[in-house]
Amino acid sequence: MTDKRSLTERLNPEIREFLVEMGAEDVFKCYQCGKCSSVCPWFQVGTYDFPVYRLPLEAALGMLASSEDKDELAAEVDKIYRCVGCDACVDQCPHGVDIPSILRAARRILVDYGSYPEALKDVVGRTRDTGNPMGGPAEKRLDWARRLDVPAYEPGMDYLFFSCCLSSYDPRITDVSAAIATILKAAGVSFGVLESADKCCSEAIRRVGAEDVFLENAAANLGAMADAGVTRVLVNSPHCYTAFKNEYPESNARFEVVHITELLADLIRGGRIQPAAEFPRRVVYHDPCTLGRQNGVYEAPREVLRSVPALQLLEVPEFNRRFSLCCGAGSGALWVEWEKEERIAAIRLNQLAATGADVIAVACPYCQQMLEETAKSTAVEIEVLDVAEILAASLE
Ligand code: SF4
Ligand code: SF4
Repeated sequence: MTDKRSLTERLNPEIREFLVEMGAEDVFKCYQCGKCSSVCPWFQVGTYDFPVYRLPLEAALGMLASSEDKDELAAEVDKIYRCVGCDACVDQCPHGVDIPSILRAARRILVDYGSYPEALKDVVGRTRDTGNPMGGPAEKRLDWARRLDVPAYEPGMDYLFFSCCLSSYDPRITDVSAAIATILKAAGVSFGVLESADKCCSEAIRRVGAEDVFLENAAANLGAMADAGVTRVLVNSPHCYTAFKNEYPESNARFEVVHITELLADLIRGGRIQPAAEFPRRVVYHDPCTLGRQNGVYEAPREVLRSVPALQLLEVPEFNRRFSLCCGAGSGALWVEWEKEERIAAIRLNQLAATGADVIAVACPYCQQMLEETAKSTAVEIEVLDVAEILAASLE
């Protein structure tokens, strides 16, 4: 049974006020021009009707996440959790409407009521209980660092290296942390890790709507960093980057945040790293939404790749830099399974493979996992490597 009430009957000022209170201040700015719909990744997928331009209006009317009908609410929940937070719509909107924030406000309501996807409930639960979305034991978080004799951070070191959860626990992506450690040692950069068990930055958890878990983990990380006297944090995940740089300051964080590709480009410019070994492959760079569109870091990763001898750098025509298509993993979507024909990652993978590249270079663990898994499941023959892994190979 779907909700048979008329539109007027369904207007809900209380929900609208609640949404605004939760951070959806932009609900009244939309003038329904529709520009956001054409840049949304769901427009590329085409098999799922995601009504992007209607979302601010639905929120302004108090209709988002408001249905009392079970089936209709289930469809609402599915819709609200389709957004991957890529900010393509924000970038294009003439009135500066932040649709992902509107949806995040709706998600906060749904999380409060326990009406959100089961897979995400598990992820939120694991992050609350263990400090990371995979549920890995805290004492194993730094195993990758111990294997490489990376010391504990001490004041006076150049950087605290904060390795994201995927590159701390996922056996494939710990290779990226290892590559980073190897390069930094070769360049004579002093760095250490946070021995007092750092927790997930929780950027994705916040976008799922679990604000309390985000705030708890942010406070724990900020406390541990302050106790250790950290002044500069080096991250490999754009999600940690945006959390620390743009969101933790809401809680008065006091440190500089650097993405690994920015530091690597600097080290190459300064002659502290000299890539020598040839990497004779055709490499296409995939801009992560959170590093590129959301934080303006487009050139540093390309600069690193261009410095590698014999590497041929390719671009996805039109869909690069601020027009890059999301890998489909943001805002919790990494942990949600959609139907095969509805996967944003498959569309992006095909765009990247169509350049004739044999390697996709990434600068984000989420993109790496999403594109690598999708390549395996769709039998597209292309390797997915982090920029740091490619650079480390050229130093050997
Ligand atoms: S582009 Fe902005 S103003 Fe236009 S419909 Fe989308 S949200 Fe509304
Ligand atoms: S953030 Fe990306 S996925 Fe979400 S509505 Fe905007 S364009 Fe679509």
